[in-house]
Amino acid sequence: MIKFLDLQKINLLHQQEIEERLLQTFRSGWYLLGNEVKGFEKNLSAYIGTKNAIGVANGLDALRLIFKAYLELGVLQAGDEVIVPANTYIASILAITDNNLTPVFVEPNIDNYNIDIALIEKAITIKTKAIMIVHLYGQAVFSNQLKELAEKHSLKIIEDNAQAIGAEWQGIKTGNLGDAAGFSFYPGKNLGALGDAGAVTTNDHVLAQTIRALANYGSQEKYVNKYKGLNSRLDEIQAAVLDVKLKYLDHENERRRQIARFYTDAINNPEIIPSQWPDNDKQHVWHLFVIRTRNREKLQQYLSQNGIQTLIHYPTPPHRQVAYKEFSHLSFPVTQQIHEEVLSLPISPVLTDEEIQKVVTTLNNYK
Ligand SMILES: *Cc1c(COP(=O)(O)O)cnc(C)c1O
Repeated sequence: MIKFLDLQKINLLHQQEIEERLLQTFRSGWYLLGNEVKGFEKNLSAYIGTKNAIGVANGLDALRLIFKAYLELGVLQAGDEVIVPANTYIASILAITDNNLTPVFVEPNIDNYNIDIALIEKAITIKTKAIMIVHLYGQAVFSNQLKELAEKHSLKIIEDNAQAIGAEWQGIKTGNLGDAAGFSFYPGKNLGALGDAGAVTTNDHVLAQTIRALANYGSQEKYVNKYKGLNSRLDEIQAAVLDVKLKYLDHENERRRQIARFYTDAINNPEIIPSQWPDNDKQHVWHLFVIRTRNREKLQQYLSQNGIQTLIHYPTPPHRQVAYKEFSHLSFPVTQQIHEEVLSLPISPVLTDEEIQKVVTTLNNYK
């Protein structure tokens, strides 16, 4: 069976180094806000190119904390509108609504599944204060037009970079394109921990300090609480693992790119529309390789019968979830179509050439 994602194999690539660092952390007797987190934050900010990186408990918290900090700083007010793609994972939306902000959904581009930048200006109102871009499936979404739009309307750009660590737009890494970015190190992400973990990157020192305090009970100094914060810290153990794996991220993303190139060039079944290749190779780190097809359930079953595991990202858009009944009247046909037709093929740095050849041959034999 070709697994969609073999996490055991992915982590065993670095077995010795990870085990040594874990043992060292275990024996140190220091488990929170110590040298491992400090070291990882330093290496992550150097990698992304931002002045600050703050380790937090998970990707959702990273995004929630960015908005919470902007509220504390008076940059945002409850009820302000945040533009966000309708086609995203629900966490992007939860981060907005959890802070009493209002998401304003914008349709994606059918060719790359990311927010259609040309549609953003129409969605801007007097209450719009921020745009959250989501580098979905690993592809950087950005343009000079977007930057100018944000400047013209004084909007913050917040990046949901949970899926695209390592991607670049014109030589700038995702996570350094907007005002602040949230990262997830959920085990299945391109840089995955051994459990939950996340981070925020930003060049804004005041924002960084505020997020750091908010993630630690709203406190900068022990037992002095400046804000009503939360407990959302990155564990030393997870930071140690992430710090090892960060060194290999570019290499592993390059293998993903190779596989994506092979899929793109070799899949020639007219029933299957592969992901569109980006303008620039570096723009995509292929967290997922997503195809579209008319009868997805049939194709998924066929692949499964042929020993190939696939997943759907995602079957139901956020505005159609029971949790968001208040948005159920909204209609986003492109988003809906994507959710009905997408299927994610296996892609990861540990897939072999034989395995990806088998995926392609099986797909090309599908009728
Ligand atoms: C994974 C993910 C998140 C949330 O990250 P967690 O670490 O699971 O909280 C947010 N946004 C997107 C697009 C994601 O894929």
